[in-house]
Amino acid sequence: RLISGSRESPQEDALERALRPKRLADYVGQQKIRDQFEIFIEAARKRNEALDHVLLFGPPGLGKTTLAHIVAHEMGVNLRQTSGPVLERAGDLAAILTNLEPNDVLFIDEIHRLSPVVEEILYPALEDFQIDIMIGEGPSARSVKLDLPPFTLVGATTRAGMLTNPLRDRFGIVARLEFYTPEELALIVRRSSQLLNCQIADDGSVEIAKRSRGTPRIANRLLRRVRDFAEVKADGHITREVADAALTMLDVDHLGLDIMDRKLLSAMLEKFGGGPVGVDNLAAAIGEARDTIEDVLEPYLIQQGYLQRTPRGRVATASIWRHFGLDAPGQPNR
Ligand code: ATP
Repeated sequence: RLISGSRESPQEDALERALRPKRLADYVGQQKIRDQFEIFIEAARKRNEALDHVLLFGPPGLGKTTLAHIVAHEMGVNLRQTSGPVLERAGDLAAILTNLEPNDVLFIDEIHRLSPVVEEILYPALEDFQIDIMIGEGPSARSVKLDLPPFTLVGATTRAGMLTNPLRDRFGIVARLEFYTPEELALIVRRSSQLLNCQIADDGSVEIAKRSRGTPRIANRLLRRVRDFAEVKADGHITREVADAALTMLDVDHLGLDIMDRKLLSAMLEKFGGGPVGVDNLAAAIGEARDTIEDVLEPYLIQQGYLQRTPRGRVATASIWRHFGLDAPGQPNR
């Protein structure tokens, strides 16, 4: 599965980590976020304080984890990483918090999936660097306040709207990650191919960039697959032609849409006449979870203007009818 995919082999995971930029200066794109972070980080460092808590939101693969690591690196502190669904009990979070060193970064991925009991102990931790923990059981149980070192919480989520209001209010810095332009992705592909020691022509990196759904993780993954193709089917050199042949073999079309995108869109056109159709009906029609459609598939399709979200449901736009070689109802275009 090319999109998002947290289910990669350990080897692919290691490769992805190796491609991760470590400094803000190497983080491509997201100019506004970079400019802001540069200032906030420098100010916090000068005061020798922890950076304010940061909420990062945006579709998967746009570099939230990468940015969290960069924040820790630039602050010169450790990063502890966990995720919402992993923290089941209050004690799980308490154990992590009490082991932090001053100004450390705690990165919680999928922070919208924290359980309410865990969220409850997070509030005073974020606000006053204190937690209340229960010691003992039954009638002799009592609550003890523990001081924590100052720390920075970096929370990541695909949708900020899924956070509870009190949690969202406790972040001093909120940054929304945007899809990358093909030019930015071409830079990332070029940088990654240097790190992977593979030869790529400029038009080869542009071709991969254009077909990566605005997403660095997909660009890097496609680069690795195109590299395989180039080594076996060509002389190892990635030209535009080689990239095009490899991507076509991988079922990534010229708009950069993959099998899942096309499955969603063709269901919309063929089963629902282009919409409006509710997301639950779409999910049932293609056998995917509603969340996958909303978090992974739809954001890029909407950003590119292939799909619209209306109060009555999702609607396919004329450009996607054209892409599938069909006439939009009431809009003959052939
Ligand atoms: P998820 O939400 O699924 O955890 P994510 O948004 O945290 O995804 P990352 O894991 O940070 O995404 O990024 C995926 C890969 O894309 C990284 O390995 C990194 O190499 C690359 N990448 C992300 N953002 C950038 C960037 N701005 N510049 C260069 N490379 C990037």
